[in-house]
Amino acid sequence: MPSPSLKDIRTKIETLEKEIRLQRSLLEVIQDPFFILDGKGNFLKVNPKGTELLGYPFEILRQKVFMEVIPLEDLTRVLEGFGEMERGKEIRFRSHVHSRLRGRIPVEFFGTFRDGVFFITLRDLGEMIQMEEELERAKKVFSEKIRERDRYAKELQVVRDLYQEKLKEIEIMKEEAVRLSYTDDLTGIYNHRFFIEQLTLEVERQRRYSTPLSLLMIDIDYFKHYNDTNGHLAGDQVLKAIAVLIQRGVRQSDIVARYGGEEFSAILINAGREKALEIAERVRRNVAETRFPNESAQPNQDLTVSVGVATFYAPLTTLTDLIREADHALYRAKKNGRNRIEG
Ligand code: GH3
Ligand code: MG
Ligand code: MG
Repeated sequence: MPSPSLKDIRTKIETLEKEIRLQRSLLEVIQDPFFILDGKGNFLKVNPKGTELLGYPFEILRQKVFMEVIPLEDLTRVLEGFGEMERGKEIRFRSHVHSRLRGRIPVEFFGTFRDGVFFITLRDLGEMIQMEEELERAKKVFSEKIRERDRYAKELQVVRDLYQEKLKEIEIMKEEAVRLSYTDDLTGIYNHRFFIEQLTLEVERQRRYSTPLSLLMIDIDYFKHYNDTNGHLAGDQVLKAIAVLIQRGVRQSDIVARYGGEEFSAILINAGREKALEIAERVRRNVAETRFPNESAQPNQDLTVSVGVATFYAPLTTLTDLIREADHALYRAKKNGRNRIEG
């Protein structure tokens, strides 16, 4: 076999040099940290990403073994991995490395063993895990915000319910206030104010539809005497009782009010003269037939009422006319002996 010529040797060296350059650039362009270790775990080659990850220049790494950059808690797993590689397996698992600048970094560990050397690639998971953690945090913040919103919604509902309740209370109070403003304190029937309002409405209605309308003025006979004999409180009881008796005497739709003092009035809706006289008589009789305490001491030995009746005639009559006419009729009833109706 002829010895190779100088030219051949030179060509061969050039080829080898080219190959080495190629391998070096290959190492440099690999984007993941890449390490070549000898059988004992000493660093033989490290690409720029590798020195960047571990935070040491190659000159320092050359004096270290790979196990020195593995955190204690991962050491067993990594040693096992090296054993597996030596037995010819390609390995891949999650682990950590210790970086001089960044501390403990999560990595995906890829490794294989060929011709007495280990080839290790570490994929930096720090960023990915950081992103996952940030995502997790964002999710937590988001769900906390949702919970907060739900809490607010609930609180808002409670406030709304309270508001509605208060509103209802106010409504009830308003209705009560309105009712009170129309009610006579002593007897519980309508007062003079309501009587005038209703009579105004009824007179209006009468004008428009010509429905009959009558008015009763009812006054207790010798009531001063009753008060003087039995006391004011007894008189009050009589006023209450007579209010009830009048209401029983009229119809459901009629409006009974305390006109003032011991005088009552009744608006008889849809009642012409005949009907009004009939109702007035019924009221008078109801009172006359009722036995009141100590009524025998009254000038006529009975507690009675006199009633004046007036009926509305369109279009000449006004509200004042109607009241005046009922008053005159009442006066006649008194003059003609009391315990009677006039109209
Ligand atoms: P007449 O038959 O003419 O109607 O005689 P009278 O005594 O009933 O009439 P008068 O107007 O002289 O007296 C009315 C009395 O009614 C005087 C007053 O003390 C009494 N009175 C008015 N309001 C009340 C009240 O709220 N309670 C009581 N207990 N008495 C009242
Ligand atoms: Mg009177
Ligand atoms: Mg009287």
